[in-house]
Amino acid sequence: MTSVTFDPVGSSRRTGGRHRKPASKPGPVPRPWVLEVAVIVLAVGFGATLGLSITAESWTQLQAPGGVAMFLGSATGLAGTYLALVMVLLVSRVPAVERVLGQDGLLRWHRRLAPWPISLIAAHVVLLTIAYAQAARTGVLREFGTLLQSFPDVLEATVGFALMVAVAIVSIHAIRRRIRRERWWAFHLLMYLALALAFAHVIVLGPSFVGHPLARVLWSLLWLATAGLVIAYRFGLPVVRSLRHRLEVVEVREEGPGVVSVICKGRRLDALPVSGGQFLEWRFLTRSMWWQAHPFSLSARPSPPYLRLTVKGIGDFSSAIARLKPGTKVAIEGPYGAFTSHARRNQKVALIAGGIGVTAVRSLLEDLPRGSDPIVILRASTSEDLVLSGEVAELVRHRKGRVHELVGSRSLVGFERLAELLPDIKQRDVYVAGPEEFVNRVVATVSRLGVAKDAVHYEIFAL
Ligand SMILES: Cc1cc2nc3c(=O)[nH]c(=O)nc-3n(C[C@H](O)[C@H](O)[C@H](O)COP(=O)(O)OP(=O)(O)OC[C@H]3O[C@@H](n4cnc5c(N)ncnc54)[C@H](O)[C@@H]3O)c2cc1C
Repeated sequence: MTSVTFDPVGSSRRTGGRHRKPASKPGPVPRPWVLEVAVIVLAVGFGATLGLSITAESWTQLQAPGGVAMFLGSATGLAGTYLALVMVLLVSRVPAVERVLGQDGLLRWHRRLAPWPISLIAAHVVLLTIAYAQAARTGVLREFGTLLQSFPDVLEATVGFALMVAVAIVSIHAIRRRIRRERWWAFHLLMYLALALAFAHVIVLGPSFVGHPLARVLWSLLWLATAGLVIAYRFGLPVVRSLRHRLEVVEVREEGPGVVSVICKGRRLDALPVSGGQFLEWRFLTRSMWWQAHPFSLSARPSPPYLRLTVKGIGDFSSAIARLKPGTKVAIEGPYGAFTSHARRNQKVALIAGGIGVTAVRSLLEDLPRGSDPIVILRASTSEDLVLSGEVAELVRHRKGRVHELVGSRSLVGFERLAELLPDIKQRDVYVAGPEEFVNRVVATVSRLGVAKDAVHYEIFAL
């Protein structure tokens, strides 16, 4: 394999990190107010949804047999479906919101919200079956059968609910961690089908919609808008970017034991808006790998026409990357992530990388100005595992900072040394990247050392 000229620290070396115009388009600045507006809009939407179910009921309807259960069943159904749409929105990766919360933040909210829609929709199913049984003065099970057979679209909605329950069960942490991530992910997509199956029965049977054409139109628009955002940002934008940049592998370089850098060549990479520290979802279009996309941080800012990722082989996919052949086509999603210099609150920074977390730290360094006086801590089990450390040292030197390499077993290299290595830690923003346990321990330690919560930024290299 021929070696390409990819000099990721070249431009920084020449200018000493001062007033350097990046060779590629910088990532857009996050606007926290976008998130605030989004939260207000969603909260108003939730209030309006509850309002719809309240205004649909009259006092006489409430007093009729099954009236109260009917009201509560409709309200829980609408609220649950609305929250399910919010969950879908959270993972649609609308760029303006993703830039503020990062993928970690979006997924955290997605997971926090998850128990609510399923519980509310389960309550809806039970309450409405009871309501119809009370109204028909018949047994609950018999009524359930009647609902499935005689009411339009209820059978489809029930199949949708069964799918939701199945996805919820498989997503329980104890079960999920026994399943391969790709299988869990594919199964999890059934949630979209479940929601689509549930749509019609709400419009056709819901007391808030029957005879209320305006409510029907607004509810349908809400669903269409959510579907549109998912299609645009999860599918459309990645396809457009992949076709625009037409990336292909030009070289796979060994960096250390089990770690390779993949250099990809593409068109118009100067137009790819990306910040140091961000990651992309990479799909290598080989026969065995095309169907999965995995996240890897850029290990350097793009240096058009080249782009570089650095990968540690820990499982099937990441290990297969070392065997990629030049010419392999690559599709991308992203860039994603809020682990960027934009998140900085203080002038000075500390960057702490555990193992392969060095990739995000390495590319983030390129976006830091000279005055940031970076102190970088690289942690690895052996000195061979300290990949990219030469590049990090050079970038730090040009920014007049310092690098500490902590090599050895976890028991020998303790986190208590952070206070000694970072005496002015309270005046710094702290960036941490690497495996989950490492990041959690460092974040806990720096919080104990008095670093403000909004000055700690991290990227966990697992989901
Ligand atoms: C934001 C982010 C940035 C990352 N950057 C880098 C990087 O620069 N270099 C690097 O070597 N690794 C990086 N990783 C980790 C890398 O994505 C996983 O090591 C890789 O996906 C493992 O896949 P596998 O099939 O080889 O291993 P598996 O055996 O399937 O998984 C091993 C571990 O990786 C996690 N994982 C698997 N698939 C995914 C996925 N699609 N998304 C997220 N986590 C997954 C699993 O939770 C598990 O903990 C990053 C991860 C994230 C979330």
